[in-house]
Amino acid sequence: MASDKVKVFTKAFGFFIPYLGRTAIQRVAAYGHRWSYQNTPDAKNVVVLGGSFAGIELVKRLSETLPTGYKAVWIEKNSHLNFSFNFPRYSVLEGHERAAFIPYDGIAKNAPPGIVTRIQDKAVGITENNQIQLASGDNIDFEYLAIATGSSQPLPVQVTSTERNDGCKELQGVQKTIKASQKIAIIGGGAVGVEIASDIKDFYPDKEVTLVHSRDQLLNNFGKRFGDYTLNALQDELKIRVLLNERPAIPGNFARAASLMFSDGREEEFDLVIGCTGQRPNSSVLAGKYPNTLSNNSRILVRSTLQVFDSTNPQKDLPIFAFGDVADHPGPRMARAGLMQSGVVLDNILAKINGQAPSHTYTPNWFVEGAIKLTLGKNHEVTYTMDNDGSDIMIPDRNGKLDLEIESAWKRYGVDFKQANKGNTERDVQTPAAVQL
Ligand SMILES: Cc1cc2nc3c(=O)[nH]c(=O)nc-3n(C[C@H](O)[C@H](O)[C@H](O)COP(=O)(O)OP(=O)(O)OC[C@H]3O[C@@H](n4cnc5c(N)ncnc54)[C@H](O)[C@@H]3O)c2cc1C
Repeated sequence: MASDKVKVFTKAFGFFIPYLGRTAIQRVAAYGHRWSYQNTPDAKNVVVLGGSFAGIELVKRLSETLPTGYKAVWIEKNSHLNFSFNFPRYSVLEGHERAAFIPYDGIAKNAPPGIVTRIQDKAVGITENNQIQLASGDNIDFEYLAIATGSSQPLPVQVTSTERNDGCKELQGVQKTIKASQKIAIIGGGAVGVEIASDIKDFYPDKEVTLVHSRDQLLNNFGKRFGDYTLNALQDELKIRVLLNERPAIPGNFARAASLMFSDGREEEFDLVIGCTGQRPNSSVLAGKYPNTLSNNSRILVRSTLQVFDSTNPQKDLPIFAFGDVADHPGPRMARAGLMQSGVVLDNILAKINGQAPSHTYTPNWFVEGAIKLTLGKNHEVTYTMDNDGSDIMIPDRNGKLDLEIESAWKRYGVDFKQANKGNTERDVQTPAAVQL
């Protein structure tokens, strides 16, 4: 795997040097924009729905580029960024869950006053005259709309609560239930199922852990080498029982004292069954007014410019873009893909503001956007990615940190972890319903 390290270094160098160059130019331009932007009372709204990996990046960039006469309105139902990468670990490891909810205060903190307004609410539909309908009953006008509402999955992948304290309680409930259960089955051998199974067995070696997967390879959305490496680590190192090619009915997402029926007709009792399968795109905001913008799997149909299109009238020029996991794009369903796509959406919204047709198109860079860092227990991590030509790289590491280096995530979103949690780990950041940044 030494050659993999050389390859990743060469590839990353080729990508990150131009990327860092572009970012530096953007920083300088943002500085100038801060002085030139005027906050006008009649500014038109560019509305961004969703405040996770994809939406946040667009909000940040809009706050650095929107011309006078426009402002960003950012609608997100959660009080904090739910850093879901760490949810499987914090479903097992106790006492860290609070850190997985990152305050939004650092986003656009250097932006010109008035250019971003954040609203904590849920978007439920679109009115006839281009307004977003909110669950609170308010309506928000939009000139342009960018949808990054992602997808939903039950605990332990996501929490249902929109407030940090309640979200923490949900994760604490998962921790307690896992701790109290001796014989545990996890259904779904994707990244979440693998991570949670390996954490349970590594943190609690005496428990009996079974991972059930419907295919003949774990992590079947990635290459075989990755699946085989993972299977070996789970079975031989962690002593997890792995059952492949099994598709038992799931008795509920988080079912206590439940049984599973296997393909040979055998029924087995478990203290706890955790379902880690299936994602539901959060696209219902378009379903009422634009039902034909949704694919068969409920993702939002987009052109290569990420502009939304209506399948019954594809030429219609809708003022709506979609990106990240909710959009039916050709790239990976990964945070980094949403990040790259936010640049495409930004350029195309700015083009429309300037009276031009959107021309920036999205072409996935699988090597960069499809990369995953998978945990296989407390300290064992594997970084894996595949290139557009099908070749792959895999780099295992045995020095992973227990908290998965959450502090660096806070820093990335503009908040100082130590400062925010100084002296009081219970400190919460109050989030009024609408905040002008
Ligand atoms: C355990 C795990 C590990 C992962 N590891 C990696 C990794 O190593 N690298 C990587 O690139 N990707 C990884 N991923 C995938 C990554 O998390 C997703 O691709 C990413 O979250 C998608 O981002 P998004 O912004 O499109 O959507 P989401 O993260 O799903 O966010 C959507 C946001 O929209 C909000 N929202 C939804 N509906 C509404 C509404 N109606 N009104 C208002 N707000 C709404 C939600 O509250 C949420 O904040 C991992 C995922 C998991 C679960």
